[in-house]
Amino acid sequence: MNTYVVKRDILEQNVRQLKKQAKGVPIWAVVKGDGYGLGVLSLAETLSEEGINRFCITDIREAEILRENGFDDAQLLMLRAVSDRRELNRLLDLRVIVTVGSRETAQLLDRIAAERADVAQVHLKIDTGMGRFGFLPEQTEEIIGLYKTCKNLAFCGIFTHFNCAINDEKLTREEFAVFQGVVNRIRAAGLETGTVHCCNSAAFLKYPEMHLDGVRLGSAILGRMPFRTKLHPVGYAEIPIDEVRVLPKGHTTGYCALWRAKQNTKVAILPVGWYHGFRVSCQLDMSRRLDCLRTAFSAIKQFLRPSRSTVEIGGRACPVIGAVGMLHCAVDVSGVDCKIGDLATVQINPLHVKGIPVVFR
Ligand SMILES: *Cc1c(COP(=O)(O)O)cnc(C)c1O
Repeated sequence: MNTYVVKRDILEQNVRQLKKQAKGVPIWAVVKGDGYGLGVLSLAETLSEEGINRFCITDIREAEILRENGFDDAQLLMLRAVSDRRELNRLLDLRVIVTVGSRETAQLLDRIAAERADVAQVHLKIDTGMGRFGFLPEQTEEIIGLYKTCKNLAFCGIFTHFNCAINDEKLTREEFAVFQGVVNRIRAAGLETGTVHCCNSAAFLKYPEMHLDGVRLGSAILGRMPFRTKLHPVGYAEIPIDEVRVLPKGHTTGYCALWRAKQNTKVAILPVGWYHGFRVSCQLDMSRRLDCLRTAFSAIKQFLRPSRSTVEIGGRACPVIGAVGMLHCAVDVSGVDCKIGDLATVQINPLHVKGIPVVFR
């Protein structure tokens, strides 16, 4: 059976490496998107064995799963703006820290908490450029007002989310300065900000001076960063070989006959294709001309020097031949000792994995 394997030991290694780099600054593990495709509960369980007890979520269901499965004391932070009364009530039931990014949400949550004779823990979200949720820096006076009027809110944190930490240092530094300006103005009014945080994985790895009181890490824990790091990808698919056969010289494989045998060739057929997420990559949103150029450039590079993907069988890297189909692909296993049922190791990004059960080992 096809399986997506997550290696606990690699996950743990990554966490230890990240902790070393965090130098005591608390890590908030981001487990949104059902744990980046790995399953929120399994991911959180492994992380908690490494001492992590702060988690960021974006779906109420994720909080329910964690609370129902023994994560009683973990701190849970809802990263998304929630402004629906029922959802806010549910978050309070689940003792989730709510992100507040507007006066309306602050006031509604304050009323709801008052009705319940409760105090809602909140982190303020500052919009330094992402432009989706959060108070604008110009609204700092408004925030200070809310501290005074919202008696049932406990302002225990404040954060921003950089929009370009991966490749724009200048912009990230500007946003960092703006964020610190807001924090300083709130403090200058004699108010406490609680936990101040701004780093996602890229900012964490690139700018140690921005770690502040906490960092929010997702991709780095999974070992999937678009630049060189000391981290390792935690997962891969294990696919049992369906068929081993010899295609005679001149025979083709796959749609459109993109591959033709130069000699008699031993070929393994694997029941994995783009439906499962194999060789699927996320298309960048091409709203910038630069991104169009980049994509065109890498297509031309691929045209001039096609790089073939490989899968691992019997410890050997075997080239994928012909076009990858929806559910199958063919692999050149010349000289490799293999038979039906032997396992091939296939690299697939867990975010794209579909129809393959995930197991932690
Ligand atoms: C997803 C997310 C993160 C984590 O991002 P990574 O780049 O995967 O580390 C951090 N903060 C916020 C607000 C997020 O939405």
